[in-house]
Formats: sequence, structure tokens, C-alpha cells
Amino acid sequence: MAKKIYLSPSEQPKNRYAYGNTNEKDQCRRISAVTAEALKRHGFEVIDATASTLSARCNEANKWGADLYIPIHTNAFNGKVSGTRMFCYRLSGEGYKACKAIYNVLAPLTIGESENIKERPELYEVNMPKAPTVYIEVDFHDVPEVAKWIIEHTKEIGETICKGVCDYYGVEYKAVSEPVVDAPVVDEPVVVQPVKTVTQLAREVLKGKWGNGSARKANLTAAGYDYNAVQKEVNRLCNSGKTTATTSTTKTNEAVAKEVIQGKWGNGVDRKNRLTASGYDYLAIQSIVNKMLK
Ligand SMILES: [Zn+2]
Repeated sequence: MAKKIYLSPSEQPKNRYAYGNTNEKDQCRRISAVTAEALKRHGFEVIDATASTLSARCNEANKWGADLYIPIHTNAFNGKVSGTRMFCYRLSGEGYKACKAIYNVLAPLTIGESENIKERPELYEVNMPKAPTVYIEVDFHDVPEVAKWIIEHTKEIGETICKGVCDYYGVEYKAVSEPVVDAPVVDEPVVVQPVKTVTQLAREVLKGKWGNGSARKANLTAAGYDYNAVQKEVNRLCNSGKTTATTSTTKTNEAVAKEVIQGKWGNGVDRKNRLTASGYDYLAIQSIVNKMLK
């Protein structure tokens, strides 16, 4: 009958890694997912725990009749110590034998060097499961280079835990045929490009930032923008610029002052706004108007 392996990855998202904007829960879940698949590949039955409390997990494992109970954690102490640590119920029991089988392959893999297996019968997940517990602290995530190493080697770690379980049960471990390549870290901060308005883009186009002709179209489209909408706005900006330029160059301040007196530019704030928008010096024109009216 297939052996039943219960994996209990850390439920501690508050345990932040010293590298990679990630945490113990997320990385231990990545490791346990690899271990679960690797164990199934070797004919084991596996539960990769999702219950959020330790008591629910121990109850589930006991009801299921687990043969081995494996908490998967990463460790923290003073930001300097590192290495694989493992815990069992007592050094003369089955838990220790299983610990030793995994330790023999995992400790040489991890980069820390302060490594040992200890009796920790007071730990809930060592004490409560009916099955022997193999409590794994892979290495120390409060040491930046170790945290980085863990994040970048979750597949090797997961496969190695599987190899240790295989060794314990006398099952021949078979590596996966394709090279083991880690997926990129999923919870790196995502840099969100600020979304630009069509008018901002059109101004950039006019400054030459997006190239010309078909290159401009390709660049804008590749960046996820609507080329036609931007080009329409470019044309609008160009035309409004021409109108202003034409108006402002054709009339002298004196001519505009006469128009002001004729009422063509309105009064008060409205006059000021319209003159300024058309490129005229409101104060200069107003002083001419005042002189003309004296
Ligand atoms: Zn932990």
C-alpha cells in the first residue's frame, strides 16, 4: 500500500525574508508544492496541507492515517546563523531515522553550515501527529544571501526533501528528466507604468519622443496605446497652435486695443482670458485702451 505523506508548509506570512520582498509562508508553499509533485511521481500519497491551524492539520493527518508528518519551514535567529535544522520527537525513534534520511541529502544542499537534528517533543506538530514527525527548517531566511538562495532553489529543495523520503522508505529516487529551473519569484513588487493621457502622449509625440510615421505607430501600439486616438490629438494640438500663431502675428496691440473698444473681446475677466489665450499681452493692450479712452 502506498505510504501517506502529510506536508505542512509554514503558515507564517509575517515572517519576512531578508531578501526578495517575500515571506516564509509563500516560499514554504512553493517548496511543499514541488515536494508533493515529486512524491506523487514516486508513488506516494500526499496531502499538501491548506488548513490554516496546526490543530486542523494534525487532526486531518491523524484521520487520514498519515505515515509521515512533515512540517516545512525556514528559520530565523540573529541574521547571521544559517544552516539546516531538523526536529524530531526523540533521537531513538522513527522520526529521527526519517529526519536523518532527509538531513543527509538536504544539509549538504543548503548553503548554511550550522546544522543539526534535535529533539523538540514540546512542539505541537512534533507532539500531536500519530505519525513520526520530520520537522524541517530548510535554512535561515533572515540572512539576505541565504534568503536569496532559498527563493532561487525551491525546486531543488523540494526535490531533495522527496529524495530523503525515498531514501527513508528504500524507494529509488528518480530525478525529473528536464533540467530543474526555478520559476521567477512571484511576489517581487510589480512596477506599474503610470498610464498617460492621450494629451500627454500627443505632447510627447510633438517633442519627437515616439518617432515618426510607421515607427511612431509601432512604438505607441507596442506600449499599449491607441495610435489613432493619439494622432487625432496631435492634429488637434497642431491646429489650435496654428490658430493662435496666426492671430497673434497679424494684429498689432493698437489694432487689438481698437477691437477691445469696439466690444469684440468682451469685458473684465472674460476679456483678459480671451486675450491671453490668443497670445496677447493683456496688460499692454489694456494700457493702450486706457490711453485711447482718455
Ligand atoms: Zn516557521
